[in-house]
Amino acid sequence: MIACLGRIVQDTDADSIPDDDVSTLSESLDLQGTIESGGITGVADKDFGGLYSVKPLALIKPSGTEDIARVVKAASQTSHLTVAARGNGHSINGQAMADGGLVIDMRSTEENHFKPLTIDGSHYIDVSGGALWEDVLRRCVSMFRLAPRSWTDYLSLTVGGTLSNAGVSGQAFRFGPQTSNVTELEVVTGKGEITVCSETQNSELFFGALGGLGQLGIITRARVKLQQAPDMVRWIRLVYTEFEEFTRDAEFLVTQEEGESFDYVEGFVFSNSDDPINGWPSVPLDPDHEFNPAHIPQTASSVLYCLEVALHYRNSDRPSTVDTAVSRLLERLGFIQLLKFQLNVSYVEFLLRVKQVEEHAKANGNWDSPHPWLNIFISKSSIVDFDRTVFRKMLKDGVGGPMLIYPLLRSKWDSRTSVVLPEGEIFYIVALLRFVPKGPTVEKLVAQNHEIIKWCNKEGLDFKLYLPHYQSKEDWKRHFGNQWTRFVERKTSFDPMAILAPGQKIFKRTHIIKP
Ligand code: FAD
Repeated sequence: MIACLGRIVQDTDADSIPDDDVSTLSESLDLQGTIESGGITGVADKDFGGLYSVKPLALIKPSGTEDIARVVKAASQTSHLTVAARGNGHSINGQAMADGGLVIDMRSTEENHFKPLTIDGSHYIDVSGGALWEDVLRRCVSMFRLAPRSWTDYLSLTVGGTLSNAGVSGQAFRFGPQTSNVTELEVVTGKGEITVCSETQNSELFFGALGGLGQLGIITRARVKLQQAPDMVRWIRLVYTEFEEFTRDAEFLVTQEEGESFDYVEGFVFSNSDDPINGWPSVPLDPDHEFNPAHIPQTASSVLYCLEVALHYRNSDRPSTVDTAVSRLLERLGFIQLLKFQLNVSYVEFLLRVKQVEEHAKANGNWDSPHPWLNIFISKSSIVDFDRTVFRKMLKDGVGGPMLIYPLLRSKWDSRTSVVLPEGEIFYIVALLRFVPKGPTVEKLVAQNHEIIKWCNKEGLDFKLYLPHYQSKEDWKRHFGNQWTRFVERKTSFDPMAILAPGQKIFKRTHIIKP
């Protein structure tokens, strides 16, 4: 098998591998799953971003962890073959691709693990790294009335894909990101070793893999913390004209104890116009809700702010009890009273809310168009400057999709993971979720993202990219800052030849890692 791989790599370039060579590879690897090559690796050279496309040597659909370990081991015996785990390919910048390398389709392993556990009275579920969060949600709620505590806004993402970044949504202020809500992982390292790790067992690998951008290992199983699932959610949107009031209220809510705040807190910026995508019509939650711009003060600027909150409740709760709880929480907030929108939806429907956006966007052809998205963590100390220049000037007409902004608390993130954050306890996630038709505008928008980052650097803002994308080692070093040395040490221990996740462009495939 190793000889066969060596021959493929030395004698030919990736595009010219005849199919029968890959079949030989398949046979020698002795996989339970399958290998696809030639014209049928289609899914592996695309991602949601639609900005990059590179051809792998082969797409492997493993049947389980053993297959994955075999593939990584085989790659480690060659001089330059790389391996990319592909979750659901919802990266923006080719992070799950492998140019001339082996792409492992993690989705084919989704059924391998789904096992509930109770440890010391707490509930957990063991799930596959390739499982979609939306399936984890549906199964946990319907079978056990339990659910994970921390989510992403959109759930057609894999467990391994989000854990390799962080996994952030409106519950993170209370429970931390998804990386703070797992207690054990099974990982295939870059040496092809299958390792179970946790806070107390192989802890360097456990914390390193969380937020590790796929650099240290392929997550094949995760143990996720569960809580009782509520039945229903009161979903509310509140409009603000002043950024200072919006951030004051958002920060107030995320710093209150459970029971003294909402269960979900997010927010977004929208343009003060009737633009159907970027303006007032983007705020109401229901077609029956009317956004009456007459309620916006004359003094309002080019952009407005919307605080989005949600409160969980049970079917057995009386409507008046829910109303009272909501009123008590809202009475301390300074939104425009006549621009409040609310809806009662089931908990599952609430968590799957972006699925509806997806269906709509697919119907009008926007889902498959390029998405030059930009996600940034910005510290509280820099957020007012960011608003003044970026939202109010550069992006005052919107980005053709949501411009999210909401506060998070550093103390809910474990500093032992590989995630990097700005300084200070309160920081904001800003997500510019651009939906654009194909064409020259895409380059312009990518250039605008660069301009925003350049401006942040020039003004000395305290920020870090989320779902980072850099081309040079120097930029990556700057990104990791004082965590770079630890990250390189972990890489050296667990993927010394830099076989894994080449699409992140952090390390070059080699035999020795150079710091
Ligand atoms: P992929 O894109 O397939 O992979 C991402 C990276 O992780 C690659 O480097 C890949 O090699 C590596 N990887 C994949 N699987 C594994 C594994 N099992 N083990 C190790 N490494 C692996 N993020 C948020 O935090 N919050 C949100 O609310 C949110 N909403 C989103 C909405 C949409 C519509 C989209 C497109 C993205 C959103 N994201 C959000 C970003 C998302 O979390 C990341 O893009 C994530 O990487 C996507 O998961 P995936 O399964 O598609 O991973």
